[in-house]
Amino acid sequence: MTDKVRVRFAPSPTGFLHIGGLRTALYNELLAKQTGGSFILRIEDTDQTRLVEGGIENIVRTMKMMGLEANEGVYLDNKDQIAERGDYGPYLQTKRKDKHTAYAKQLIEMDKAYYCFCSAERLEDLRHEQQTAGKPTMYDGKCRATPREEAEKRIANGEKYVIRLKLPKQGRITAWDVIRDDISFDWSLIDDQIIIKSDGLPTYHLAATCDDHDMEITHVIRGEDWLPSLPKHLFIFESFGWTAPKYAHLPLLLNADHSKLSKRQNDVAVEDYLNKGYLPQAIINFVALLGWNPTGDRELYSHEELILMFDLAKVNKAGAVFNLEKLDWINEHYLRSIPEDEYLALTHPYIKDLNSDQNFVDRAALLVRDRVTLPSQVAELVSTILKETVDYSQANIAWKTQPKEQAVERLEAVKKLLSDIDESSFAKREARVEHEQRIKKMIMDKGWGNGDTLWPLRVALSGQDKSPSPFELLEVLGKERSLKRLEAAISHLST
Ligand code: GLU
Repeated sequence: MTDKVRVRFAPSPTGFLHIGGLRTALYNELLAKQTGGSFILRIEDTDQTRLVEGGIENIVRTMKMMGLEANEGVYLDNKDQIAERGDYGPYLQTKRKDKHTAYAKQLIEMDKAYYCFCSAERLEDLRHEQQTAGKPTMYDGKCRATPREEAEKRIANGEKYVIRLKLPKQGRITAWDVIRDDISFDWSLIDDQIIIKSDGLPTYHLAATCDDHDMEITHVIRGEDWLPSLPKHLFIFESFGWTAPKYAHLPLLLNADHSKLSKRQNDVAVEDYLNKGYLPQAIINFVALLGWNPTGDRELYSHEELILMFDLAKVNKAGAVFNLEKLDWINEHYLRSIPEDEYLALTHPYIKDLNSDQNFVDRAALLVRDRVTLPSQVAELVSTILKETVDYSQANIAWKTQPKEQAVERLEAVKKLLSDIDESSFAKREARVEHEQRIKKMIMDKGWGNGDTLWPLRVALSGQDKSPSPFELLEVLGKERSLKRLEAAISHLST
């Protein structure tokens, strides 16, 4: 047995990587990275009827985009083909079918499992009967008592069968979970789980448990929905005399109304968030906090910090509410803190069609950086700044109850002041500060108010009640455009 941490993310490719899966993958990765252990990607594809075309590729590719690459298991090679690496393969679960079948046979031999011949109709009738009687619906154990020789004869005669675990029917089992501590289960409420289906394929329960043993997994970190299955998994470990890994069941993810996170209320595929322009580092930061906060006094953590601070035992038991506003807030933070060229590269797909020189467009994009949550939102703001003629019909150029004539007076004065500044001063780095100083000095000298001068100026430049500051606008628009807009605003006020 290894003393190195070995953890696995074991998604079923029945869909694309979703937010919950990403959190599971992340917590596994954090523990592996923190301890210098191995992070394994095992694909649990035994339920062939539910496989989604492109699911495996999506999971692997999305994990890579999020900076979560497994160092062992399934990956995409440089031709984008599904490949495997590591000493514990295969990592595509269906390829391990023979091992699973052999384990199931061993369980039968140890009398820890049995053949069951009950037809789908019988099971349906049974379920119906139990439902009407208000009892829990579960297998009644009819085939438990069938002697093995008889069962083997029936199989030899071509009868269809499944293999079920022969679980205890009385007493309790107490399991230990890193997050939840001791949890006790009543055996009488646990169904004799099917481990081999009638098509000969193993179910998740057998496959995952045996693979976890064979791959020497030390910690199983997975969603809370698997908690009810834990006794069955421990039963398998115990039957074989294997040491079980440590288990940690992560809290459920909830919609704002505390129902289970669903597609109906939120996007759940990680790809959807990436396509909308959420940054990988923001998504990682956000997802890490779904059920855990390293220090409790802040919300922003880099991936490196998360690795250093991760503590599985401190993960919450209670469900974690998926709060989109928090994701937006985190994304705004990262969008503002990445280098300018990275930010611009993100905005380019949205502003490439704007008919203006790139330098001008980029300056406008930088100007609105503090006002956007997603790069796509830059387009509208930038095009407002860049358009040749400004429409003042929806804007209030005059401030509050300010008479139009006064607004005109202020704008004329600023226009005069700006006309006297030469073109090259507008292009200087310090232009913004200089404009601000000059204009504020003029306001003081004349004994005017900031509001009654700067409001009309800002709206004259932007055509909008809400916009970046007039000094920022002056810097981006430059002398000629700024003067043209002031004239247009003056003439709008004068009509
Ligand atoms: N294949 C299971 C899933 O997709 C994995 C559960 C586990 O980690 O044991 O949820």
